[in-house]
Formats: sequence, C-alpha cells, structure tokens
Amino acid sequence: MAARIPAKGFAIHSREGKFQRHDFTRHALGEKDVLIDIHYCGICHSDIHSAYSEWHDGIYPMIPGHEIAGVVKEVGAHARKFKVGDKVGVGCFVNSCKECAPCTHHHEQFCPKVVFTYDCPDHFHNNEPHMGGYSNCMVVDEDYIIRIPHDAPLEKIAPLFCAGITTYSPLKFSQVKEGSKVGIAGFGGLGHMGLKYALAMGAQVSVIGRSEAKREQALKMGAKHYYSSVEDAKGADLDLILSTIPTPYNMTDYLDALRYGGELAIVGNPPKDVLPSVNVAELIMHGNKKVYGSLIGGIEETQEMLDFSILHHIYPEIELVTGEDIDQVYYNLTHSNAPFRYVIDMKKSLGS
Ligand code: NDP
Ligand code: ZN
Ligand code: ZN
Repeated sequence: MAARIPAKGFAIHSREGKFQRHDFTRHALGEKDVLIDIHYCGICHSDIHSAYSEWHDGIYPMIPGHEIAGVVKEVGAHARKFKVGDKVGVGCFVNSCKECAPCTHHHEQFCPKVVFTYDCPDHFHNNEPHMGGYSNCMVVDEDYIIRIPHDAPLEKIAPLFCAGITTYSPLKFSQVKEGSKVGIAGFGGLGHMGLKYALAMGAQVSVIGRSEAKREQALKMGAKHYYSSVEDAKGADLDLILSTIPTPYNMTDYLDALRYGGELAIVGNPPKDVLPSVNVAELIMHGNKKVYGSLIGGIEETQEMLDFSILHHIYPEIELVTGEDIDQVYYNLTHSNAPFRYVIDMKKSLGS
C-alpha cells in the first residue's frame, strides 16, 4: 500500500485560537491523483468565517485556504491530464461523486458528496478532515485540478480559484453583456474581481461601498459611479447587483437600486447569526425584482474563467504575506481598508 504523504502548514486549533505551524499527513497518492507542490494560497473571507466557526462548528485543527496555485510534483499511475512540472490550481472543492445530477451537469459544487477543500470530511478517504491550502502540498484527483499556462504569474492566479470564479459565474448566469448596468456591493477581494469581469463583458459598472475609502480605486479600475452608501445608490436603475458583503445588511436597500425586473445575485455569506433575509412583503412591493444565491462554480466553468482572465489580463490586486502574518491579516480583513487580496507565499513561509 502506498505511504501517506508528510505535509506541513498553518492551522488554527479552536475558534478563539491563533495560527500555528502544523505537521500532518495527506492521504497516499491514488492512481488518478496528482501531488501538487503549493507555491501560493490566497486568503478569502470564507477562510475567516470558517476558522472562527461563524457558519457552523468548525473541524479543528483546521488548515484553511482554497485559492491554491502550484506545480505538479508527482502523478498517480493512471493520471493522464497532467505531468510533472505543469502549473496547476485548486479551488474550493477537491472531489465529488461524479454521478449525481449536479456532477453530470458540471455543477459539482452542489454534489451531496462534494469534498470542500477544508473544514469538510473527505467522503472518499475515510471521512478524514480535508486540509486546505495554507500548506506546502496537496493530493488531488486530477478531475478537480485546473490547468494554468506556463507563463502565467502564479501569485496572481491563485485568488482566481475562489474570488475569480465566484464573481465570474453569476455575471455569466445573469447574462451580463455590452451595455448591462452592473452594481458591485462590497468592494474587497471578490468585489474588485466582479468589477473587472463585468467591465470585460462590456458592462457599465457601479460600485456600492460603505465609505469614501475606496472611491478613487474603484474609479481608477474603471467604475462609472461610486456610491459610498447604499442609500446613495437608490434609483440607480441597475440591471444586476452582485452582493459580496460578508457582514449584516438590509437587502431591501439594494433592491431599491435595481430597475424593474432587476436581479440581486448574492455570494457574500455573513455569519449564521446575522444572515440578512428578504422581507417578502417588501419584495412584492419592489417591482418584480429577482434575488438568487450563487456558490463558486463547477470545474468546467472555473477553467473557462481562468482562460477568460488570461485572455483579458484580468488579475487581482494582491499583497504577498507569509504564514506568520495570518492572524494580523484576518484582523485587517475584519476591520476595513485592507488591500484587495492577501496571498500567502508558501515557499517563503514553509521552505520547499
Ligand atoms: P473581503 O473581506 O475581501 O471583502 C469584503 C468587502 O465587503 C470589503 O470591501 C468590505 O468593506 C465590504 N463590506 C463589509 N461589510 C459591508 C457592508 N455592510 N456594506 C457594504 N460593504 C461591506 O471578503 P471577500 O471578498 O473575500 O468575501 C466576501 C464574502 O463572500 C464573504 O462572506 C465570503 O465568505 C463570501 N464568499 C462566497 C463565496 C460563494 O461561493 N458564494 C465564495 C467566496 C467568498 P471595507 O473595505 O470597508 O472593509
Ligand atoms: Zn473563497
Ligand atoms: Zn455528485
């Protein structure tokens, strides 16, 4: 039997804990698996919700991280899609059943047996908790790996596997096109990617923030309008608002910024105790507006998003950090005015 693979990373041990170096093992390389040497991992606000048990009781020790870019180190005996030295990426899930309706329709993220990259039992490996990308390596079934071109900048590609696909997918679902009027609510890691994709799809983009702090950056990135509060956006007559907001807010305020029949697409997922909800009576009174949620995207669409990003030179604004900085980064991301995306340099953090 093949041996388990030694690994190291940065784990949190309880919801009140701090990140610490953590040695562990990953499951052995299966016939269709690929061993990835992780170079960079983005820090998503979902990592914070999970690490602090804001959505449900987390599985500890937990190594978060689902914006992973690296290089293939070894391939299983029957893995055919990748070879040693290829640049590859992994996003928010690492396996699924491959047979159910969501899997066969390329929406693997909705598979009842989906294995999220962290804070989730690995249903295909004795339910051992899967460890995420704040680590030096990962073993993943080749069907859940995204191909990255050789000359692409890995540190900027990493965040595309969550922040990228999560914003690209609803913009496509809502058929954003030349002339669409799109609003971006919450202008952080996801929000600024939403702005860039919507512009590339031909939309006129408005950013709805919560202060003046990011006005200049939004306009510089190509936003036509910047509203420093949702009240200011009232009557903006938008076709679509993409909400990436991770804290409590009033949904009806955003409906007021939509045109008749406009859509509110929600990806931001605040803590469970303070989740916003729709007041049905107000929804009825607000002009046939549609509200829907969206969860990352399937593997096929993630590859499409990556190809689109590279074709249009769409990359996140990033700041590189090390594993020692994670606690401070989490503080910054929950106290306003953080840079758009922090990315952990795993090589610098953990060596090779
Ligand atoms: P960031 O922390 O990078 O950005 C959040 C942004 O929202 C910040 O710019 C912040 O503003 C702004 N914001 C916070 N509260 C409010 C508010 N009440 N009103 C207006 N703006 C606000 O987070 P991410 O972009 O990484 O993630 C955003 C959310 O999306 C999280 O809840 C995350 O879990 C979720 N998510 C969902 C996915 C899905 O598939 N559905 C996938 C990935 C993430 P400021 O600059 O002032 O701090
Ligand atoms: Zn994420
Ligand atoms: Zn399935």
